[in-house]
Amino acid sequence: MQHHQKVLFIDLSTGYYRLARYPIGDFFGPVDLGLHIAQRYYTTNIGVGVLAGSIFPGSNRLFVNGYSPCWNSFFISSMGGAGLVFDNLGINMIALSKKAPTPSVLYLNRIHGEEIEIEIKPIDVFKIWESGHGGVYSLMHEVLSMFAGKYLTDPRVIATGPAAYATDFGALCSAPVKDGTLTWVDTWAGRGGFGSKLFREHGIAAIIYGGTYIDEDFRDRKVADEWFIDKYSKKLAAKDLEATTKYRFDPQFNTGGTFGVNFATIGGRLLAFNYRSIYMTEEQRLTIHQKLIVDHYLKQFNEETIATKNMKTCGEPCTAVCKKMRDIYKKDYEPYQTLGPLCGVFDQRAAEVLVHKADMYGFDAISVGGVVSWLMECLDRKLLTPKEVGVDYLPVFSHASFSAETDSKHNAEIASQLLDAIIHKKGILDFTEGARKFARKLAREKSKDIIDCFVYNANARKGWIVPNQYWVPGVLSPMPIMGKYYMYYGYDFLPPRELGRKNAHRMIKELMLDNTGFCRFHRLWAEDMIPEIINSLYGMHKEFLTNLDMTASRINSRNVSIYWESTRNIDFVKAYLKRLHEVEKVNDKELLHWISQFEQNPQEAAYNYWFEIAKGVHESLREF
Ligand code: SF4
Repeated sequence: MQHHQKVLFIDLSTGYYRLARYPIGDFFGPVDLGLHIAQRYYTTNIGVGVLAGSIFPGSNRLFVNGYSPCWNSFFISSMGGAGLVFDNLGINMIALSKKAPTPSVLYLNRIHGEEIEIEIKPIDVFKIWESGHGGVYSLMHEVLSMFAGKYLTDPRVIATGPAAYATDFGALCSAPVKDGTLTWVDTWAGRGGFGSKLFREHGIAAIIYGGTYIDEDFRDRKVADEWFIDKYSKKLAAKDLEATTKYRFDPQFNTGGTFGVNFATIGGRLLAFNYRSIYMTEEQRLTIHQKLIVDHYLKQFNEETIATKNMKTCGEPCTAVCKKMRDIYKKDYEPYQTLGPLCGVFDQRAAEVLVHKADMYGFDAISVGGVVSWLMECLDRKLLTPKEVGVDYLPVFSHASFSAETDSKHNAEIASQLLDAIIHKKGILDFTEGARKFARKLAREKSKDIIDCFVYNANARKGWIVPNQYWVPGVLSPMPIMGKYYMYYGYDFLPPRELGRKNAHRMIKELMLDNTGFCRFHRLWAEDMIPEIINSLYGMHKEFLTNLDMTASRINSRNVSIYWESTRNIDFVKAYLKRLHEVEKVNDKELLHWISQFEQNPQEAAYNYWFEIAKGVHESLREF
């Protein structure tokens, strides 16, 4: 086993590079080491966990971290499978600093035990983004065709799209390459704006990497099986199969994947029409769920994807096969929720075109869905005109007599025009410095109602991120990193201070997965087993767990969460609490207390509720 993490520092302005080694024990993975390096050298870090290349399923995620342009703080993003090819470079991480003079491709290749070849090659990225399949897809194809001949095995390409240039929330995309051909199973480091960071701050439009270096990865299945049998009386493969049921196929709901299981079970907790569903009656929400989702949106998915078993992996061997496909379209819950029901789109054909366009542009699909649905509500309420936001029509933004196909298509066309308008800065749209700053400007110049219907988490002066798509207060919590699962998103009632503590607890667990390079879809065993595995391989159980607590407290020491700026955030929490009591019949005394506080004085109650969560977070994420 390796005893150091190897980091390749690359100065993009000159191409100068150096290799540094960090002992395991001082740092354990891409997150604690990334935090240290980013703070010291202001780098963007891309790397894998120490178990990459091992036999553990899910251990090959590729992590990106550094200061996020849209969150305005340290952020961690990751993409599935891309770590497997990265492991062939024989290093753990690259740390990028400074900026290439013109938009370029970063080429990394390692043939057997030789030094890593590095090249920073200028490209005409704007022309490439306009060609072929467009955006990230054209760029991945172009970069692959430019460099594929230099590799002995299939490399992998990470690409940005026009959103990286035009906004602060451009993402990073990468699709597995099979026998020299790009697949359509694209994976994303979607959150945190690392596409914008790579492009705007480092001048890098794409990275191609790969190699044939073989290091000593843990591959002893017999030993691993012994550990699993001791813990679960099951071998590793059997436990993993059981733990990933939801993501493959769950017979309980007769569907699979995040899209299938979440939409099958969401019921009256659905979020639609820019969260206006929170103001509806439970009966209305259930009607939407049954008629537009179960009988149409989900039905199409089940028939076209689940019944045909059109399921793929992210690039690593994995029995979860969580990538649910139809043709070139990959169906994950959150992009198909924010650019689906949240935008008034309940039809697969309409959503496919819309999500594909957002992906092609290289947006963080969750954030852009939240932005587009917000603009659609502003159009519907005449807070903004079609001309101001560069579109031709008004949306159908009410569930009454909604046609699943026709109205979804209509709404998807408007949403699609909004994506074009954001990229081309049509009308008043300019997201160069992010949606929150833009919303604040509109609130000042036009109407406060505009910002009041935009649901986002706020951080520092202009940091923002659209929350995960669950109707729970966890997704709007004052955590140091939001927009991913560093919080508790269960539907049950927790007093806010307890919620803060539980958020902190979840953050530490998720951090453990991230810092060892794991896919969270394997968390049902990985959270138990990772400390044991690290102990067996390195003899550092206590050190590993102490390091995790310390890393969480270090990240939280930069917690600059801002109290909810939009009244829709407050209404979101208030309506969640009321629904718990009125629909779910929860009669907890503290729940009733908070409902009554929100009824009497929503602003004051929201302040108290938010600060109670913050108390729970801060009292938990302390070093001592
Ligand atoms: S669950 Fe999905 S994303 Fe995770 S490792 Fe398996 S195929 Fe990849």
